[in-house]
Amino acid sequence: MKDKKQFETEVIHAGYESLDFQGSLVPPLFQTSTFTFPSAEVGEERFAGETEGYIYSRLGNPTVRVLQDRIAILEGGEAALAFSSGMAAVSATLFHLTKTGDHILCSEGIYGCTFGLLQLMEKNFGINHDLVAFENEEEVRGYIRDNTTCIYIETPINPTMKLVDLEMVVRIAKEKNIPVVVDNTFCSPYLQQPLALGCDYVIHSATKYIGGHGDVIAGLVIGKKSEMDKMAMTTLKDIGGVMSPFDAWLLLRGLKTLPVRIDRHCDNAKKIADKLKDHPMVKTLLYPGDESFPQYELAKKQMRYPGGMISFEVEGTKRDAQDFLNRCKLIKIAVSLGDSETLIQHPATMTHAVVPEEDRLKMGISDTLIRLSVGLEAWEDIWEDLNQALDF
Ligand SMILES: *Cc1c(COP(=O)(O)O)cnc(C)c1O
Repeated sequence: MKDKKQFETEVIHAGYESLDFQGSLVPPLFQTSTFTFPSAEVGEERFAGETEGYIYSRLGNPTVRVLQDRIAILEGGEAALAFSSGMAAVSATLFHLTKTGDHILCSEGIYGCTFGLLQLMEKNFGINHDLVAFENEEEVRGYIRDNTTCIYIETPINPTMKLVDLEMVVRIAKEKNIPVVVDNTFCSPYLQQPLALGCDYVIHSATKYIGGHGDVIAGLVIGKKSEMDKMAMTTLKDIGGVMSPFDAWLLLRGLKTLPVRIDRHCDNAKKIADKLKDHPMVKTLLYPGDESFPQYELAKKQMRYPGGMISFEVEGTKRDAQDFLNRCKLIKIAVSLGDSETLIQHPATMTHAVVPEEDRLKMGISDTLIRLSVGLEAWEDIWEDLNQALDF
């Protein structure tokens, strides 16, 4: 497709021409490990990069290619790469951007395994990092070093829902020509498009909203074609965390309904947040779509809608918080997010259990903080379940 269409159209059509695939309406599943060459000479040419054509599925696969082309268009990027998990995408990108002696500036409160990876990079490879709140522009500037080769951001931050002002980050990064990487998992390209604001790389755990059906672990990276080409031949091909063709096929199916699903996630979240706010057992509500949220205006500026994730503190103790989870019936106790099913979890003992207590409390993750991934069920049923579980 040449002309760029609306987002809702591109999720269904971008990057795929059915007549190139014998008219198959849906991108076919090329469930094959390798590709035969018509002759030894063609094999030589393909390895030399002289002719187009597939070689081996770790180096490229037509189903995966459609997904990569589609997500690149959806994020407004030049190219994309597909990985076996969100963490494979994160690690491949960070290893692409750093070498021993370099420094990464990172937003505070990043995904737990990304935090673990940064510690491993420091210990084993001498790649250092600072975790910074990204609230005060001058303070952030003070953390930039001569050897800073990457600024790594999550927004909203999990699970406190704090936002990072991407325009501010880009302003700081451009002064020193430092690439900005944004983990856009919580938003998907439908709600937030960091590349349009001047960021350089976008990462997704496609496991979440992009897949949307709780049946795939996968990751994506979107950026400049020159950089994606380099990563394809190094931190993707040689480290080897490639996406399986079947997972790409499932993600292409999930993507088609992304805007429809996210509209509903967001509508449901707003209604649930309004109810939670008024409940006497809810101490604090952390939801970017509520006027009481300190960064309500920033959310309106850089996100299309405030998203489907809500965090809140309940009254009482850790025990009360766990009892509350145990009383949920329709809502499932599980980590992950962005699925059709409403999921609830207790960050202090689950996703953020590895964070030392002092750091955890400083980040705003108390013993009674709850994270809710609002699903696609009727919001009245979700609320009824929460309301009966909150009765303590
Ligand atoms: C889940 C998640 C990841 C990791 O993705 P996997 O697909 O589980 O490897 C990274 N970042 C964020 C924000 C996530 O929610």
